[in-house]
Order: sequence, then C-alpha cells, then structure tokens
Amino acid sequence: MDLKEKIRIIMDFPKKGISFKDITTLLKDGEAFRTAIKSLADLVRDKDFDLVAGPEARGFIIGAPLAYELGKGFVPARKRGKLPGETIKAEYKLEYGTDVLEMHKDAIEKGQKVLVVDDLLATGGTIFSTIELVEKLGGIVTAVAFLIELTELKGRECLSNYEVVSLIKY
Ligand code: 5GP
Repeated sequence: MDLKEKIRIIMDFPKKGISFKDITTLLKDGEAFRTAIKSLADLVRDKDFDLVAGPEARGFIIGAPLAYELGKGFVPARKRGKLPGETIKAEYKLEYGTDVLEMHKDAIEKGQKVLVVDDLLATGGTIFSTIELVEKLGGIVTAVAFLIELTELKGRECLSNYEVVSLIKY
C-alpha cells in the first residue's frame, strides 16, 4: 500500500509557505492506519527498548498503538499543566517564544531503554525536548522513530547522537 497517497497535503497551513502533511486522512482509513503502525513496528522490532515515549498530541496517536503492537509500555510527554503527578519539564522553541513539555518524575526508571516516537520530524525541536525529558530521568534513548520525515529541514542533524528511523520521507 502506498501510504503517501493516504496523507493529504494542505498548502499554507498553519501559515503561508508551509505545506502541511495532514495525517488525519491516513488515520481514518483502517487498513492504512494498521499498515502504518505495523510497518513502523517492523522498523524498530529488533531495537532494544523497554518503553515507548511520545509527545502530545500526534506522538500519542502513533506512539501508543506502536507500543501496544510491540508489547511495550507507553510514556506520554504532555503540554504544560496536564499531568497530575510530580513532573520534570523541558522547554522547546516555537517560531515565536517557547513552550514546555512535561513528564512524570516516576515515568522512567534509571537505565530503562526507551524508543522515542512522534508522527513527524521537521526541525527536530519537539522530539529533542522529549529526548531531554527521558534522559533527565536517567532513561537511555536507544532509537528515535517517525512516521514521516521532512528531510529538507535536516532534523536528523540535531539527532546525530541517536539512531533515527522513519517510514515515509518527503
Ligand atoms: P519539529 O519540532 O520537528 O520542528 O516539528 C515536528 C512537530 O510538529 C511534530 O510534533 C509534528 O506533530 C508537528 N508538525 C510540524 N509540521 C507538521 C506537518 O506538516 N504535519 C504534521 N502532521 N505535523 C507537523
């Protein structure tokens, strides 16, 4: 199945000049969604990890079923103020200003191996702060996986210390 065909491109969203990869058209197609998760699972099945971690919100949509498929636990990195327990924080850059991702302090044990997942790699800022949270807790990031990689934005360069895999490239 050609998964690229299932992804809708929306021009000038969220602002002029951006060609947004809209995955909702893939997600609503049961066969495409299942193929996407199973194919991503095949890319990481041989990696050594105990947990999958992903950032709000699309990182949950891809990360949680991936963890389920592989029989691993899932750890969410959430936006500010959403997690009820004690948290640690990592700031990340937006176009104007910064935002914060949080993770529960007890989400990951020291030395646990973690696969970090998001739907899409652009500049790498979002995934980098998710990695920062995992590492602050003493977790070891053994690989980083994306459904989609925008190769021109060179997000891989800020992830050069990690093994990076992606299923669909633009
Ligand atoms: P980065 O932090 O790598 O610059 O941007 C990636 C983050 O922004 C991801 O969490 C992703 O969900 C979101 N994102 C940026 N551009 C797109 C896009 O074209 N399509 C989708 N689905 N998400 C995007």
